Amino acid sequence: MSKKKYAVIGHPIGHTMSPFIHKRLFELSGIDASYGVLDINPENLKNEYSTLRGLDGYNITIPHKQAIIPLLNELDSKAEMYGSVNTVSNRDGISKGFTTDPDGFVKALEYASIPLSGRVVILGCGGVARTMAYEALLKNASLEFAVRPQSVPKAQKLIAEIKSTLKNPDVSCVEIGALSGDITTLINATPVGMSPKTELQPVSDEIIKSSANVYDAIYNPLETVLIKKARSNGSNAEGGMSMLVWQAVVAHKHWDGSNYDVKDIEQLCVDAAKELMKR
Ligand code: NAP
Repeated sequence: MSKKKYAVIGHPIGHTMSPFIHKRLFELSGIDASYGVLDINPENLKNEYSTLRGLDGYNITIPHKQAIIPLLNELDSKAEMYGSVNTVSNRDGISKGFTTDPDGFVKALEYASIPLSGRVVILGCGGVARTMAYEALLKNASLEFAVRPQSVPKAQKLIAEIKSTLKNPDVSCVEIGALSGDITTLINATPVGMSPKTELQPVSDEIIKSSANVYDAIYNPLETVLIKKARSNGSNAEGGMSMLVWQAVVAHKHWDGSNYDVKDIEQLCVDAAKELMKR
């Protein structure tokens, strides 16, 4: 069989972890494939589309996740629901778009035994918070967005969008400073604590203590102050590298139906973190 061709496209795309992660996944599944990096300017996306059609599949990062949609032949139902595509498969002349972040998020939590049920609090209301919120609500969680005061109108707008999309979602919004009470799962979807400002934490020690489970979308550093403190309190806590890796695993499922051993994926999370440190 001839060597398969894959790539990631974006702009700018200098520090992407995608080649490291996807090359390992191809090695694990025994598929002979190349995985390149294509820096494509937004104004060149249409002109470069014939190059993309020549690939077996590709991943998409900022700023092309929406712009690619009108160029494709088909959209998977989740990509349609989120209005965003991060993975394309070119098979039998059909270019089909998928979004793998939602399933990657759910799988990351599942393997960390972090429940998306009970009282779920998401810190922030940006891009990744939106995905996490829909997935938590689809699992019938009682969801609160906790945001800084200036973000309240943005959170309310997102809540209105969610209410017009899902049937009777249990969703509300609170200012971070007003958070209190026991939390089943606390999720950080803000950049607070990310490198280089690794000394910061998005909520008080008291809130961390009242959270039975904690997930931090941040993957650099691998263990944020939030995760460290949650673990030292005895809470179940996991960092964002698992989501980054699991959303890539879901992409391979769409490309070639590959299944992986969980131990291999856990090892990939560790190795991807080491690779990130080296950079
Ligand atoms: P985004 O769209 O810019 O959203 C960031 C959110 O955080 C916004 O709600 C923003 O509020 C809020 N925020 C920013 N600074 C804050 C502060 N000092 N205090 C409280 N809230 C603050 O970003 P994103 O794409 O959702 O990404 C958020 C984080 O998730 C980043 O660290 C990113 O690296 C990580 N991430 C991880 C993965 C993964 O696979 N693990 C995937 C995607 C993203 P305003 O809107 O009011 O500014």
